[in-house]
Amino acid sequence: MEHSFAISENLYTAMHKCTRCGQCAYGNQNAGFSSLCPMQIKGKFFSFSAGGMMQLARSLYEGKAPFSESVRNILYLCTTCGACEINCGVIEGQVDLFTLVKKELVNKGVPLLEAHRMVVDNTVDKKAPYGGRLPERCEWLPREKRQKPASKPEVFYYVGCVSSYRETDIPNAFVNILSKLGIPFAIDDQEWCCGAPLYFAGHEKEAREFAIHNVEVIEKSGAHAAVFTCPTCALMFKKYYPEWIKREPQFGVLHSTEYLDRLSEQGRLKLNVSLDSEVVTYHDPCHLGRGQGIYDAPRKILQSIKGVRYKEANRNRENSFCCGGGGLLPTGFPTIADELALERALEMKNTGAHVFISACPACKENLKIAAKKVKGRTRVFDLTELVSEALGS
Ligand code: SF4
Ligand code: SF4
Repeated sequence: MEHSFAISENLYTAMHKCTRCGQCAYGNQNAGFSSLCPMQIKGKFFSFSAGGMMQLARSLYEGKAPFSESVRNILYLCTTCGACEINCGVIEGQVDLFTLVKKELVNKGVPLLEAHRMVVDNTVDKKAPYGGRLPERCEWLPREKRQKPASKPEVFYYVGCVSSYRETDIPNAFVNILSKLGIPFAIDDQEWCCGAPLYFAGHEKEAREFAIHNVEVIEKSGAHAAVFTCPTCALMFKKYYPEWIKREPQFGVLHSTEYLDRLSEQGRLKLNVSLDSEVVTYHDPCHLGRGQGIYDAPRKILQSIKGVRYKEANRNRENSFCCGGGGLLPTGFPTIADELALERALEMKNTGAHVFISACPACKENLKIAAKKVKGRTRVFDLTELVSEALGS
């Protein structure tokens, strides 16, 4: 049989082994068996789920269905949250397969949605996915705090696009932590987007060039570890960069929560300042939790802050529910992204918390919009902001 695109052995097996059971859309008893697949919640039918997309991918592969804008409109609803991979007991690699099919849609000339086309063009041209005139990449850091990069940095701080241009409180908090702890670090305005918007839009070839550039920039700094406040950027470096650049980078990759936990274990991070007695809850970013298996570190740090009264949301850890900020959903389908964020915010509010914490700039951005619609005074922070405050002046 003629096949319409090349596929790895693993993904080929996955595509054929899918039993169409539909379990991928649901969480286990810890999630009250409620749906965890954002696109299935919104699309309602089986086609709008990992199982449905597996069948679609197979039909496309076998030439039984055409690559079309209708196919595109289903695939780009996927937030890449990975809940299907956790809940499917049969196969793995769902998100990679869907991204491969997006790549084939692009190869076969199916146009992207206009909003996604702009994201790709901006990223290629400006090395960040945003339109309009952008400030300098390091402009988030006030001039008086800028210093020459350390000659022997302990870590390279890779800031990422959302933090550099939108959620600038996060990098300021993280730099504050590093400075207070006396940790020599490097940042670099030659940093480019991690390539995730390109990869998830089906433009893997372009994303590879971003990987080569970013690894060169970090290796030039001489740091043995790169630390990321964005889980998606960290995921790109951990999971995809080694294959794209055809070698292991000469530095370790750590999300900020892993790094802060390590500093705490070494006795270097001491959170002595008590915060106002606040009920807080934590949202697991999909690319940190399910993507990298990091669930304990953020909870340990959060609960070590004096004055924090911690409540767990109903759906948590591997059964956490996506805030709608993943994949390219907010740019392509902003109303759906907002509705998903509101569902998550209401669930977090039900814990009794007035403070929502995450460890991802994109989650913070999306949850902030939803928090405004939730009754009562609700605030959203990144964990780095709380840690910076708990370190005191
Ligand atoms: S992807 Fe897994 S859980 Fe979903 S329908 Fe296929 S076999 Fe079942
Ligand atoms: S990655 Fe998330 S949104 Fe996409 S199919 Fe899987 S569960 Fe659904």
